[in-house]
Amino acid sequence: MGEKMRVVAITEEKKVEVKEVRMPQPKENQILMRIKACAICTWEQRTFTRESHMPLPFVGGHEIAGEVAQLGKGVNPAEFPVGGKIVARLINVCGKCYFCRRGEENLCVELNNLDSSEMEIMGTGGMGEYLAINASQAYRIPDELPDVKAAFAEPLACVLNSIEKGKIELGDDVVVIGGGIMGMLHVMSAKLSGARVILSEPDPERRRIAEELGCDITFNPLEKNPVEYVRSLTEGRGAEAVFNTTPISAVAKQAVEMTAPMGRCIMYSSQHPDKPFEISPNWLHNSETIVTGAVSPSVRSFNRSVNLLAKKIIDPEKLVSGTYPYGNAQDAFEAAVRPDTFRIIVTF
Ligand SMILES: [Zn+2]
Ligand SMILES: [Zn+2]
Repeated sequence: MGEKMRVVAITEEKKVEVKEVRMPQPKENQILMRIKACAICTWEQRTFTRESHMPLPFVGGHEIAGEVAQLGKGVNPAEFPVGGKIVARLINVCGKCYFCRRGEENLCVELNNLDSSEMEIMGTGGMGEYLAINASQAYRIPDELPDVKAAFAEPLACVLNSIEKGKIELGDDVVVIGGGIMGMLHVMSAKLSGARVILSEPDPERRRIAEELGCDITFNPLEKNPVEYVRSLTEGRGAEAVFNTTPISAVAKQAVEMTAPMGRCIMYSSQHPDKPFEISPNWLHNSETIVTGAVSPSVRSFNRSVNLLAKKIIDPEKLVSGTYPYGNAQDAFEAAVRPDTFRIIVTF
């Protein structure tokens, strides 16, 4: 008891500081995770810039990789040997709500109920040296998978939940709107699902990277009408699956309009600002097109993500835009909010 560890806390607008807090102790059925790498996700970026008004100070971090440091009572050391590498799905699964019982744990009513009783600074707690997690949240990964790549388990899992809703069949046309990190993970996953992948992205450098990642067709939505262009590629029908990874409502409307009859249009990104747009009920009636969303990773998609990374079926290397030791976390956050970066990773 009384041992200290360091965390990276957002303390005010555009400022992070390294703070010392009490080291967590693993309770029954818990693992003390020694965190090695933590990626800075959009949520933490918005908290840093104060677009999101989480109370400060705040220790974010949920895209984490590391190793088993200590086991609480009841955890099998054969399953989780000390020193063994793990990643963690940090969001809660209560196991007893309506959604959990239907196998849709990403909508669990206790999703964000953090056990903060031991925490001196609020937050998800991944941006620190240690975190106590439930053994059920931990996934073993191979020792040879670098921590920086393993930290993609969470964002890739979010994307795989989205991909699943696209119900892609071999040979389908898939449009991904937006070539940020989430767009790129959609490109790679859709390609793996056997689709012809079309990316809409204004930035030429991002289009180039998407092509390196296997994207079949890329185009600039500022140079041509995206809906007409996608229709021209698909005999006028539109794409079987469209994934909107941008937060712009005008784009959300285009996403629906470029989806084929019987197709699936998935609103992956949250919308800022959240402006409603019109959909014709008659068009839905006649087209049978499905318009839906995707939020957070399910247990199933997290498991798939771990498999894809562990077996090197998906390699996120090109999406790592920088790695910073936690002492330079200020630089890391400043880099993360720049539009030209994909994922910035803080190491501990
Ligand atoms: Zn995330
Ligand atoms: Zn639940």
